[in-house]
Amino acid sequence: MPIQGLEDEMIPGLRLPSAILLPVLEWRARRIADPVERLRFLRRATSAGARPGRRKSARGRSLALILFVVLLLAPVLPNSDANVPTIGRAAGIPPAASAPDRLPDVWLVEKTGTQELYSNGLRIETGFTVAGLPRAYRVFDRQRREETGEERSTPAGIVFHTTESHLAPFQAEQNRQLKQIGEALVEYVRRNRCYHYVIDRFGRVWRVVRETDVADHAGYSVWADSQWLYVNLNHSFLGVSFEAQTRAGQADSEATPAQLLAARLLTGMLRGKYRIPAADCVTHAQVSVNPRNLRIGYHTDWAGNFPYAGLGLADNYDRPVAALWAFGFTYDPAYLHSTGSRLWQGLSRAEEQLRQEATAHGVGVALYRKTLHGRYQAILKTLGQPGASEEKDDHEAQ
Ligand SMILES: [Zn+2]
Repeated sequence: MPIQGLEDEMIPGLRLPSAILLPVLEWRARRIADPVERLRFLRRATSAGARPGRRKSARGRSLALILFVVLLLAPVLPNSDANVPTIGRAAGIPPAASAPDRLPDVWLVEKTGTQELYSNGLRIETGFTVAGLPRAYRVFDRQRREETGEERSTPAGIVFHTTESHLAPFQAEQNRQLKQIGEALVEYVRRNRCYHYVIDRFGRVWRVVRETDVADHAGYSVWADSQWLYVNLNHSFLGVSFEAQTRAGQADSEATPAQLLAARLLTGMLRGKYRIPAADCVTHAQVSVNPRNLRIGYHTDWAGNFPYAGLGLADNYDRPVAALWAFGFTYDPAYLHSTGSRLWQGLSRAEEQLRQEATAHGVGVALYRKTLHGRYQAILKTLGQPGASEEKDDHEAQ
C-alpha cells in the first residue's frame, strides 16, 4: 500500500528511510490478524522506540500517525499461524459463574393436526404455524480473531420477549376480552412472523413460526457463550414471547402463573431438543444493540425482571453483557433506568472484563474499544449487513 509523501522522510523511532521500512512494516502488519496485536506492533514500530531526548519534528509525528492509521486499517493477509490471541480470555478474567447445566429429557408423546403433547406436560397449539425463511447462520469463535465464522442451521439459544401488546385486567369477568385480545395477538404475530412461540396469559403455547425457520424477533443483536459469539440472532436463536408488557425499572415479572409454568415446560423441551445451554437462554434487553450509535438496549423487554429461576434457569442477568466486552458497545442513562439492579451486575462485569482485556493488551480502554468496533463492522460485513441504516425496530406486536 503506497503512502504518498513518505518516501524521503524518517519515521520517528525507526531511524531508517521510510521507503525501505514501509514495505517491511506493511508486510508484517498485514499478517497480524488480531487488531489489538497489530495495534501494539504499530505503536512499538512508530513511536515507542524513539530515543529519549531526541526531538521529533511535527512532520515526523504526523507521518508516524498516518503510517499508524493506514497500517492499522490494512486488510489482513492469510496467516498460517493459528495461535492468535483470544477474546475474553485475557489473564485474570474469571469465567462467568455457572451452575451445573442439566439438559431436560423431554419427548413428543402425541401429535394431532392442531396440537402436540410432550412428556413434561407441555401442550403446543400448532394449527396457526407458518413457514419462514430456512434457518442458516454463522457463529464466530470468541477465541480467534477471525470474521468468517462457521455455518450452522440448528437453534443455538432462546431469546425471551414481551409482546408489549394491549392487556386487559386479568380477572374472570374479563374472560371474553382476554380471549379475544390473545387470539388477535396470535394472528398479528403470525402475519408478521414475529416470534417462534407466543405464550398467552392463560399459558397456552402457540407455535407461530416453524422451529426450522427464521422469525423476525431479535434484529441487530449480540450474545456470547463460553465458546461462540452470535451476531444478529433472528437466525441463530428461537424467539419466545410472553403476552405481557414491560415497565421501566419494574422489579417483578408481569407474567401470570400459567405463563410461567408454560414457559418452563417449553424452555425445557427446546433445550433438550436442541441441546441449548442455560447460558444461551437470554432476554431481548440483554442482546439488543443499535449499530448506529454502538449502544446496547435498543429494545428493553425483560430488561431486569425476567423470572429465570421460575423457568429453572440460572440468573443470566449476572453474565457479562456480550456486546460490551466483545464489541465495545456502551449504554446510556435511559437504558439503566429501564433495567433493574439484576442486569447492572452483567453490565458491571462486562465493563470490568473490557478494562482487564485492554490492560492485558497494553492499550487504553478507548483505543481497545475502537479495535472491537472494527471487528463488529467486519462481522456485519461478513453477514451481508454492513449498513447500520436499516434497523428494524417495530417487531413488537402493537
Ligand atoms: Zn423483544
